[in-house]
Amino acid sequence: MKRRDFLAGVSAVGLSGCGVRARTSALSPPLPSYDAIPRIMPIRAHVDRIFRVTVCLRPFRAAGPRLDVERVADKTVVHNYGHGGSGWSLSWGSSGIAVEKAMAAGERDVAVIGCGALGLTSAILLQRAGAKVTIYAKERPPEVRSARATGSWTPDSRIALTNAVSADFPMLWEKMCRNSFHMYESYLGVAGNPVEWLDQYSLSDPSPAAAQAQTAEPAGALSFASYRNRVRDLTPRSQDLPPGSHPFPTKYARRNSNLTFNIAGYSRQLVNDFLVEGGRMEHIEFHSPSELSQLSQKVVINATGYGARALWKDESIVPVRGQIAWLIPQPEVNYGVQYKNVNILSRRDGIVVQDLGIGDVEGYNNADEEPDRAAAESAVRVVAELYGRMLAVPLR
Ligand SMILES: Cc1cc2nc3c(=O)[nH]c(=O)nc-3n(C[C@H](O)[C@H](O)[C@H](O)COP(=O)(O)OP(=O)(O)OC[C@H]3O[C@@H](n4cnc5c(N)ncnc54)[C@H](O)[C@@H]3O)c2cc1C
Repeated sequence: MKRRDFLAGVSAVGLSGCGVRARTSALSPPLPSYDAIPRIMPIRAHVDRIFRVTVCLRPFRAAGPRLDVERVADKTVVHNYGHGGSGWSLSWGSSGIAVEKAMAAGERDVAVIGCGALGLTSAILLQRAGAKVTIYAKERPPEVRSARATGSWTPDSRIALTNAVSADFPMLWEKMCRNSFHMYESYLGVAGNPVEWLDQYSLSDPSPAAAQAQTAEPAGALSFASYRNRVRDLTPRSQDLPPGSHPFPTKYARRNSNLTFNIAGYSRQLVNDFLVEGGRMEHIEFHSPSELSQLSQKVVINATGYGARALWKDESIVPVRGQIAWLIPQPEVNYGVQYKNVNILSRRDGIVVQDLGIGDVEGYNNADEEPDRAAAESAVRVVAELYGRMLAVPLR
């Protein structure tokens, strides 16, 4: 989730059983019945319901992900790392490109280093292409950094800097994006809901313009690439919600629908799919590229994410820190909200509460992976304040 997406999600607009229904207004035309807001069940936003706080580092490269091929002694190494805040979203498309390059070498016994979003999708696509595959990794899910992501379809989130990419990168990005999206379609409706569409509501009291001014990027801020317009046809347009059509207490509200990845279940499914097809996993940590010589395979896909900075001494990877406070899952809450720079997403495996901070540069070049409990609680208090306003109950 990027700040500009967050702000773009805010535009002019307004719990039976215990859900919240729309407030009525004589002045506002109702939404057509087929488009009406479903019952909004409140989130139980108490700090003692935080069951974990996680920190993840986005493996950001100004030029975009590394996908070139390198010879290291007798090995052909295909790189597949550096996907910033878009690693899950672009995984299938990026790994498809890496697999094509790996299979072009003619070998049918292939190694993958890494068991995160990019390693798992590379391994599965290699199997589909007819290869025998072994994953070598220091960690596997749920320990990998990928397991600590928000879980949204965000294909151009901190993926590159506008002025640092090659001329053909936007087209390559579009190819990765469309191929990934197509693959994700096949996970919809699958038992356990590894992937699903959720409505997301962007809420604000100031007008969108005022909100934007309040959170303006500092002067000289980095210009992160934005390619969303190239794939406008993939996802629905967001929709302004007129006052009275929704139960939220803010002056402005907008709804859109986005793909959500329930990462605990989804990554388990990827691991299982890989093992069922005869894949092997070995626990190993590499300290330098020369250690690849111990592998029997001649072709290796390097999907080590942020780990490539140390392993490959690739200082073009910049860590972009992000923290999530996890509230106990509430299956009855089936939507996301953005409010006061906090992103809330109700996943099957926990309710994500993420302080987006000010600007896309938030967390940039910060490699601190220590959770900040006070910041986590403060983000949850923002959620509590929202529902307090909605339900007119005092904060506690
Ligand atoms: C807060 C936050 C929220 C995010 N939200 C989203 C989102 O909603 N949607 C989205 O698309 N993306 C999101 N991202 C980005 C996404 O999480 C990353 O782009 C993605 O996880 C990168 O995956 P990876 O497989 O490259 O790396 P990792 O998940 O880090 O996997 C690397 C693998 O390589 C192994 N490895 C590394 N070094 C070595 C070594 N030396 N020897 C052996 N093995 C090694 C590791 O053990 C691991 O198995 C988010 C990131 C953050 C920080």
